[in-house]
Amino acid sequence: MILPGATLGLLGGGQLGRMFTVAARTLGYRVTVLDPDPLSPAAEFATGHLTTAYTDPGSLAELARTCAAVTTEFENAPAAALDALADKTVVRPSGASVAVAQDRRREKGFFAEHGFPVGPYAAIDSAADIPAALAKVKLPALLKTARFGYDGKGQARIDSRAGLERVFAEWKSVPCVLEEFLALEREVSVILARSADGAIAAFPVAENRHAHGILDISLAPARIPAPLAAEATALAARLAAELRYAGVLAVEMFVVGGRLLLNEIAPRPHNSGHYTIDACRTSQFEQQVRVLCEMPLGDPSQHTPAVMVNLLGDIWREGAPRWEAVLAHAGAHLHLYGKRDARPGRKMGHVTVCESTLERSLEVAFEIRRELGIGERGESA
Ligand code: AMP
Repeated sequence: MILPGATLGLLGGGQLGRMFTVAARTLGYRVTVLDPDPLSPAAEFATGHLTTAYTDPGSLAELARTCAAVTTEFENAPAAALDALADKTVVRPSGASVAVAQDRRREKGFFAEHGFPVGPYAAIDSAADIPAALAKVKLPALLKTARFGYDGKGQARIDSRAGLERVFAEWKSVPCVLEEFLALEREVSVILARSADGAIAAFPVAENRHAHGILDISLAPARIPAPLAAEATALAARLAAELRYAGVLAVEMFVVGGRLLLNEIAPRPHNSGHYTIDACRTSQFEQQVRVLCEMPLGDPSQHTPAVMVNLLGDIWREGAPRWEAVLAHAGAHLHLYGKRDARPGRKMGHVTVCESTLERSLEVAFEIRRELGIGERGESA
């Protein structure tokens, strides 16, 4: 076990890293963040900040020398950097499991090879793959870049073969996957922690609504039948075991025709798990610290129903939002990430509403959204 007082390393210093850093500092660890951004949200709470590229040999050597263990907060952390660190210090999750999540082709291939339910899809590596892809995937479809897409970026709706050829060419023929456009009944996610010795603690299933490809709100527990929630949890647990995963893993799923389909995984805490900070006995970020340091996993059970509302830069249009509108509600917990520049679509913070019932939490969450000027579908009013 890596004891409090030790230094932990973190690749990436955004809001997920910030909440990890708060959890680690609370447990008595020191944290060194590697992130080129001098205004990194995580670095505000960290004890050290290396402001170089993630692959900088000097910074990686410094992390390896000073950190008892290293983790990451985003899947675009170069797997090679994690692998290089793993020769010299503890790294969780491994570069190999991050590499699967980094590339939609590998991710979908892994799901399919291991017998997990997935919607119809095809990989497109070059224009020559287009006819075979269209034979496999019915239109309308979604084209997604295999790498570096997030929050709905690198995705386009495809209605015709000509449209597919045009978008693929516009994207300079980068590798993609084509997915059938599914009639989603619900979107859910399972976040779990798996320790190096294979113990698993899963948080209650969250139900997620997106607007413009970005998570808008999450409700927990998800409003799905208990057997479906149990199945979602079992799928995520089996996936983590098949990946020999050590760390916090998020598994996003669709409910289509009453059945679960895997969408994607994130090798880290997830936006849809922010509710765990205020509504569970252990948060997803504390769990990340515990796995990293080989402490026993914390109790993931939920003590209060919760609705999380994302706060995007859009609501800063006329200066800082009226926080009194949030803070006047006793059950509302405001989390701001300390980002200076409020661009539209940028995740600036979130509010978690914890009331005695999920229905009441939802009512208060929508009241707060109205007061902050967030529209019905996430658009600012
Ligand atoms: P992703 O980045 O793959 O998680 O996609 C972002 C969001 O787009 C998802 O959360 C869904 O709301 C929507 N989406 C993604 N894939 C599909 C699909 N195959 N069919 C319908 N909607 C989708």
